[in-house]
Amino acid sequence: MLQVKHLSFGYSKKSVLKDINFTAEVGENIAIIGESGSGKSTLLKLIYGEFDLKEGKILWKDTQILGPAHNLVVGYDFMKYVTQEFDLMPFTTVEENVGKHLSRFYPEERQDRVTELIRVVELDAFSKTKVKNLSGGQKQRVALARALANEPEILLLDEPFSHIDNFKKQSLRRNVFNYLKANSITCIVASHDRNDVLGFADTMIVLHENKIEAKGSPLQLYKNPETPFIASFFGEFNIIDGEICYSHQLKIVENSKLKAVVKQSYFNGRNWLIEAEYNSQYVFIEHVKKLKKGSDVYFQKH
Ligand code: ADP
Ligand code: MG
Repeated sequence: MLQVKHLSFGYSKKSVLKDINFTAEVGENIAIIGESGSGKSTLLKLIYGEFDLKEGKILWKDTQILGPAHNLVVGYDFMKYVTQEFDLMPFTTVEENVGKHLSRFYPEERQDRVTELIRVVELDAFSKTKVKNLSGGQKQRVALARALANEPEILLLDEPFSHIDNFKKQSLRRNVFNYLKANSITCIVASHDRNDVLGFADTMIVLHENKIEAKGSPLQLYKNPETPFIASFFGEFNIIDGEICYSHQLKIVENSKLKAVVKQSYFNGRNWLIEAEYNSQYVFIEHVKKLKKGSDVYFQKH
């Protein structure tokens, strides 16, 4: 189990993280979400042991994670960290990068392992390509495969799919997260993309204003977002009679007590998002078709 206890940290006097507490079970997928600058990467770096802690404690099983003042080389064998920068060897092939930390003592096993991981990240066609000739998204996939090579017990992923295009993203997420579950690898994923989180995380931790604002399963937090900030992660929402409701929880009806004027319609794939003015506030309502600008509509909660 990973234990983060009473962790506070700042690069300077200014605080970045204040009294962070959480645990992760073996094999658990934990998503750390928050706006840019909220301290997600900092939290991953602290868990990895990149900085010395002044306040708080981090443990993986019985091992206390210590920073550079106590470790000549940063990091631990049981933990891998895929940073936002990837840190690959550009002049060697995808295969060589993925196998970098694997023993050369058993060349056949090594090759099998490399092939298996390259398949997980769907780079089969590029195994002999030099990394410098790959796109940003492909490099990110090489970094993922390399981190998995030595079967870490815990994997830290910093926005792992941010450079990967939408065509590949869905299947890659499923491959990687299913692989981690199947191998009971604990993972802590920093992200601001709800699609990295909703179908995969066991627990979501919401970072906001230096603190943990909420912690729970994606379903719990989605169904009962305690603050507008939490709701905003899941989609467009409104505050009607003091209650948070998502745009799909409102519907347009023939008549009701709630009357609004259509301002704009945005196509969102399955439906249209209608932006309307109600009581001098803007409301967002999901609807099956586009509506005419300036027309009156009535709406209610589902
Ligand atoms: P996130 O990953 O959520 O975008 P970061 O952890 O990168 O956030 O950054 C949190 C805060 O710490 C930001 O205000 C950022 O400017 C600051 N910060 C990050 N890295 C450093 C650093 N090496 N030195 C000083 N300040 C930093
Ligand atoms: Mg970051």
